[in-house]
Amino acid sequence: MFKQIKRFIYTKILKRKYYRTGQCNGCGRCCKKIYVKNFKHVIADEKEFEKLQYMHRFYSYLRVIGKDETGLIFECTQLDPVTNKCKIHKTRPGICRRYPQEEMLSMGGELSQGCGYHLEPIIPFSEVFDKISKKSKK
Ligand code: SF4
Ligand code: SF4
Repeated sequence: MFKQIKRFIYTKILKRKYYRTGQCNGCGRCCKKIYVKNFKHVIADEKEFEKLQYMHRFYSYLRVIGKDETGLIFECTQLDPVTNKCKIHKTRPGICRRYPQEEMLSMGGELSQGCGYHLEPIIPFSEVFDKISKKSKK
């Protein structure tokens, strides 16, 4: 019963498609390869990013380390390179506290290799497949 209530709240009220499970193991990988989304696109232009840096302190921590087909790649300067720990852990921005969020999947992103979190579909693929099969038989 609890599972059904939880599923109802997540899918119907929160409009979620995934449960986030697991926990952070402190590997620091997600702070070493970051894409920045502005509205619906991923930033690929440094001039556009410069404007964002004034809007939120999180952006002021980032520095460009590369670019690929998705967009600019950043690393966070608040990550201690020796310990792989966040230097401002207690006051880290909300976006870091909420990581990982399922929106990253819709952007074509994925969890870092070895991340202790998992994003599991709330409605399993087999259930979706069954529903589609039943509808097509009607
Ligand atoms: S502020 Fe801390 S948790 Fe957030 S990206 Fe930087 S190092 Fe990672
Ligand atoms: S990649 Fe995952 S396990 Fe590693 S620091 Fe980021 S959230 Fe934690």
